[in-house]
Amino acid sequence: MSEAAFFNALVIGWFLIALLTFASLFFITAPYGRHARKGWGPRISSRAGWIVMETPAVLTITLFYLLGDRVGEPVPSIFLGLWLLHYVHRAWIYPFRRRGGVETMPLSIALMGVFFNGVNGYLQGRYLFTLSEPYALAWIGDPRFLIGTVVFLVGFAMNLHSDQILLNLRRPGETGYKIPRGGMYRFVTSPNYFGEIVEWFGWALLTWSISGVAFLAWTFANLAPRARAHHEWYRKTFPDYPKERKSLIPGIF
Ligand code: NDP
Repeated sequence: MSEAAFFNALVIGWFLIALLTFASLFFITAPYGRHARKGWGPRISSRAGWIVMETPAVLTITLFYLLGDRVGEPVPSIFLGLWLLHYVHRAWIYPFRRRGGVETMPLSIALMGVFFNGVNGYLQGRYLFTLSEPYALAWIGDPRFLIGTVVFLVGFAMNLHSDQILLNLRRPGETGYKIPRGGMYRFVTSPNYFGEIVEWFGWALLTWSISGVAFLAWTFANLAPRARAHHEWYRKTFPDYPKERKSLIPGIF
């Protein structure tokens, strides 16, 4: 089997698993953070879990960039730069900014994250830096690239800003949960997730790639059910939770 045939089969399988994950997560919420519960095997510290889960996303794409035949070309290098902008923060900075709360997560969740980020890193890196048609310099002037990059950066900013509002809710050493307010929290319960989805929508657009669409589908499959679970949790926990807030998409869901 050629690598292109393997890649195509993997992408199709990846879409199908995303669909299955989407349906399952409405019934079984991933057991970390406020949804943590016993019975998921050995546990590791949440900080270590985040580093372990997200580091493969930094390493795989960098590896496939270096192994590919487009090293130093402007467009692939911009793709790599945007990816690393998100994932260096997520893997190596964000875990140190988190405060208090649930101190451990199941090792099984971290290992699922490693698997997801490993396969996703292969799909993105191998496609963009080797298997796709080459991206000419003129791609930088293409409206899909320009609009996609703006959307990506807006999503990134929304994700960072919304996470920051959450992180500010706890003073050092404090645990527990409060109602987040301000920014995009005026409209939805999980604007950090919404920002993340907007970001990878921008990525799918700016790379105009099947691998980008697959990642967008996965991100939505993962985060939409979790946003719904967070929303229901807030409404049960805080009787004064703002009624007009939606779960994830302003005005819609
Ligand atoms: P959450 O919104 O559940 O929590 C983010 C952080 O804020 C956690 O440290 C949490 O503490 C704390 N927090 C949340 N709500 C409150 C509150 N009401 N009061 C006080 N502290 C609060 O996000 P996740 O942990 O699920 O995800 C973190 C980041 O990772 C997000 O930016 C998300 O978009 C991204 N992510 C991306 C995925 C993808 O598929 N691309 C998958 C999963 C996450 P605690 O941990 O104690 O609950």
